[in-house]
Amino acid sequence: MDKYDVIIIGGGPAGYRAAERLAALKKKVCIAEFSEARIGGACLNEGCVPVKAMVESAHLLMKMRRSSEFGIESGEIKADMGAVRAAASKKMDFLRTALYSSLKKQGVDFVFGAASFVSANVIKIDSRQMEAEYFIIASGSESRKLRLQGFELTMNSFQLLEKGFSGNELLIVGGGYIGCEFASLYRAFGRDVTVLEALPDLLAMEDSDVTRALEREFKKQGIKLLKAASLKSVSSAEAGLSARIEQNGRSSEEKFDAVLSAVGRRPRTEELNLGSAGVNVLPSGAIAVDDSMRTNVPNIYAAGDVIDSPMLAHTAYREGVTAASAIAGIETEKINYPAVPRIVFSFPQVGALGITEKEASSRGIETETRKSFFAANAKAVITGETAGFLKIISSVSDGRILGAAAVGAHACEIIHLLSPAVSRSMTLKQAAEVMYGHPTLSEIVSEALAKI
Ligand code: NAD
Repeated sequence: MDKYDVIIIGGGPAGYRAAERLAALKKKVCIAEFSEARIGGACLNEGCVPVKAMVESAHLLMKMRRSSEFGIESGEIKADMGAVRAAASKKMDFLRTALYSSLKKQGVDFVFGAASFVSANVIKIDSRQMEAEYFIIASGSESRKLRLQGFELTMNSFQLLEKGFSGNELLIVGGGYIGCEFASLYRAFGRDVTVLEALPDLLAMEDSDVTRALEREFKKQGIKLLKAASLKSVSSAEAGLSARIEQNGRSSEEKFDAVLSAVGRRPRTEELNLGSAGVNVLPSGAIAVDDSMRTNVPNIYAAGDVIDSPMLAHTAYREGVTAASAIAGIETEKINYPAVPRIVFSFPQVGALGITEKEASSRGIETETRKSFFAANAKAVITGETAGFLKIISSVSDGRILGAAAVGAHACEIIHLLSPAVSRSMTLKQAAEVMYGHPTLSEIVSEALAKI
């Protein structure tokens, strides 16, 4: 039987980052993954990479449509969705191949197939058994399903990307990360998009000024919003699908060409036979871990979407490294979850980290907020993307920066300028002393702190 120091189940961000760390620490490590095509996990193959690659095409298209504002006449602009998807696939293939060969060069082994536990020290992949001193479960997540009639007629984000969408009317159920990104993407390519959200706001975790700014821009683009609404059933119609929707106590039947379900993801543990290893699973389906990512079984760790933490690739990276370090007996800083960046690649983008004003208020923390607007930022005026703002939230008692949020062009990048301030609890005064080049979008930080 093959024997390793560590076997990692899952080759996504948590798994491959853990493998890199363990290989660097001279551990004999193997990643178990369904197939070579799945290396990089949902992030590289289904989500972060292909979606953001298509978002980039959409951004270019939007910019080209406004080229005359920049003195450029570009003639007829045509978008070919097939070619857009092919361009995204090419980038995905490049990154997957590069990742695979880099991991192999670092000494990481791979085994392909569905892994499940036989005991706390042995797994099986098809008929092959493998033994390890330690395991890291990094099996990720899968789209959550709704219990409603006709749900099987809906698609998840991966299915929509894979099959393509040649119709016009798209209903997106869920106004979270995926819902907002796909709404922006398909609207930019000229589709009629409706977003149905159960809660009163899109991106409900963020403050209402942020969501209002996003929703205002969505409406300007012609994205239809059905908030505090629920989807009751989906059925086949003569052409496309019919969705029964309830909102404000009224029920209506509407036709769409496709329905995308984007109502969250759930940890993927069912195929792992965790019972044989004695690993505890929370009622949510997530694996319970401590600060070092260790499960209740001392030699088994878990990291990424499969544990109860934000389902984000960058969180998974950190958790993978934490697990790997703990296995090697190296102490790492406890993960500062509130400082995890929340970034949404919609048009406009949303970026946030740390506390929100509403969370501070519910926790009885007195805060003050400083805001600056892209419309007053020279670079934003130059690029013609002036919608939105940046706000910085600080504690009244000691002036420490507790959180920040941005909505607007490149907000997903700009928000990181506040990452050191939030994760290291800098004061407004310290942050105000940082200098930014002119003219840049980054200056919006110094503009927000101009009156310190
Ligand atoms: P999400 O949790 O971000 O959003 C789900 C949304 O669906 C919520 O707004 C929720 O209120 C709504 N909802 C739930 N049930 C509903 C119902 N029955 N009817 C209508 N609305 C309903 O989940 P997601 O958008 O599916 O994304 C899945 C995961 O992938 C997230 O955890 C996210 O962290 C991750 N992701 C991240 C990024 C990024 O970082 N840019 C992008 C895409 C996905």
